[in-house]
This record gives sequence, structure tokens and C-alpha cells, in this order.
Amino acid sequence: MERIDGHTILIGLMATPIRHSMSPTMHNNAFAKLGLNYAYLAFEVGNDQLADAVQAIRTLEMRGSNVSMPNKQKILPLLDKLSPAAEMAGAVNTVVNDNGVLTGYTTDGTGFMKSLADEGLDIRGKKMVLTGAGGAGTPIAIQAALDGVKEIAIFNRQDAQWQQAKKNVEMINSQTNCHASLHHLEDRDDFKHELATADIYCDSTGVGMKPLEDMTLVEDPGWFHKDMIVFDTVYAPRETKLMKVAKEAGVKHVLNGLGMMLEQGAEAFKLWTGVAMPVEYIHQLLF
Ligand code: NAD
Repeated sequence: MERIDGHTILIGLMATPIRHSMSPTMHNNAFAKLGLNYAYLAFEVGNDQLADAVQAIRTLEMRGSNVSMPNKQKILPLLDKLSPAAEMAGAVNTVVNDNGVLTGYTTDGTGFMKSLADEGLDIRGKKMVLTGAGGAGTPIAIQAALDGVKEIAIFNRQDAQWQQAKKNVEMINSQTNCHASLHHLEDRDDFKHELATADIYCDSTGVGMKPLEDMTLVEDPGWFHKDMIVFDTVYAPRETKLMKVAKEAGVKHVLNGLGMMLEQGAEAFKLWTGVAMPVEYIHQLLF
């Protein structure tokens, strides 16, 4: 309470539904720990309110905001500048306000890569199989390709995100040194075949989370091998069905999305404050 005064600078989170988010607790505890005079608040903002909310960042001289579904793509034309990764991914999860100039960043992809590094894992030069091409899968694929992953096989089902998956593959192949390929998730033989030579399998579909908590896209432990990494972007529940199958297969490195959540937040924190988030402290506090 003593932190909040007439000089406190506001940072927002604009999404809907948003009341369940861990981000306000994460950022406000980090501000308090470092004695920084910022406050982070969640705002229930959908597509219809987004233009007004973005204008409010300028009017209220907020330092910036996080953006989540359903606004990650819709916000692009409302901003003044984009980071190269945000431009490639066509998505923004962090806005920084520099004297009225709003720049959009995406920290989900870097958060994913950093969470692997935190575990001592380096996937540069390696092969990734990725399921999903949405708000999480797209920045993960783009950042992995930019950071030097050698090959990415993207599997998606024939739904609204198929076109996005196609775009991601074309962009990676034309703008990075990584070789990307697009596959039908319905082709189970192809999926099994690609997993057999993968160094990392990342599932960014949300299968394994409510209401699909008893489901996994890979049910047979025999599709995995011990030396690979299995990464689920889901973090509630902490151990998904996919993670159980991977552990049954004896996979050495089985990770949920908590580390990614923390690191995407830490990067946004640094963009707003110029200071590193006390990641260890927050990790102990929240996880
Ligand atoms: P999204 O709706 O934008 O994309 C979902 C993707 O999964 C699409 O490609 C879709 O085709 C595919 N998909 C959805 N349901 C499927 C099913 N039943 N079978 C096969 N494919 C299916 O969602 P998103 O924003 O990318 O989020 C996906 C997951 O990632 C969620 O669980 C979310 O909580 C998680 N996430 C985690 C973090 C983190 O920091 N750990 C960050 C962002 C998102």
C-alpha cells in the first residue's frame, strides 16, 4: 500500500476473460520487492473496447500493457511500431509507451526459449515437432526459428488456424535459416514418424487443459524417446496427460508452461522498467 502514491505509474492487462490471470500478482510482487513505483491492473477488455483502451494508454500516460486473447492480433493496427518478432508473428502480448509512441512486442516466443535455457536446455541446431499455430504456437515457432532451431515440423488440424500454420511455415522458410514444414494432425503415421526423430516436442494446442484435461494428442509412450524434451504450454493442471505419457516413456525433460509464463512476464517487466524481474523470488512465491 505504501508504494502507491501520486507518482505511481500504471501498467495494464487487456483481455477477456482475465480475472484468473497470475500476471497481476506476479508483476505487483516484483515491483514491491524492487521498490518500483508501478501498479499492474487487469482490465476486462474485448475487441469492441480495444481502440479506446489503447488510446487510454496514451491519455493516462500508462507505461504500457500486456494484451491477451482475444486482442493479440486485433491490436496491431492500433500501435505505432512493432518489434521484428511481433511483426513476423502478427501478434502482440506487450505494449510499451514511450512518450505517446506505442510499440508492440511479443514475449511468448522468447519466454518459451528462455524457459528451456533456465533448465539448461539448448535446442539451437535441433529438430522440433510443434502442434498448434495459434496465439502461443505462432510466436514459439517464429522465435525458435529466429534463434537457430534447424527444423520445425508443424502439425495442425483442419480448422481456422490452418491458414495461420501455413503462413508461419512460409514466413520461417523465407525469412530464417530454419526449415519448416506443415503437416496434417489427422495423419497419425506422419505424426509418429516425425516424432521419432524430434529433439523436442512442444504442444501449444491447450489440449490437456480444461475442458480437455484428460486428453493428449500423443497417447502411446512408444512414440517418444528418452533423449527428447516434451514441453506442454499448459500449466493448469501442473502435470497434464501428455506429461504423464512422456514420463511413462522415460523422457528425461518433461516441462509444463509455468517457466514460459514466468519468462514471458520477466521480459515484459524488463521492457517497461528497464530492470530485471527477480525471477527466483517470484518463482518461489507463486510456484
Ligand atoms: P489458440 O486458440 O490461439 O490456438 C490453439 C491452437 O491449437 C490452434 O492451432 C488450434 O488449431 C489447435 N487446437 C485447438 N484445439 C485443438 C484440439 N482439440 N486438437 C488439436 N488441435 C487443437 O490458443 P493459444 O492462445 O495458442 O493457447 C494455446 C495454449 O497455450 C493454451 O492452453 C494456453 O493456456 C497456453 N499458453 C501458455 C502460455 C504460457 O506462458 N505458458 C502462453 C500463451 C498460451
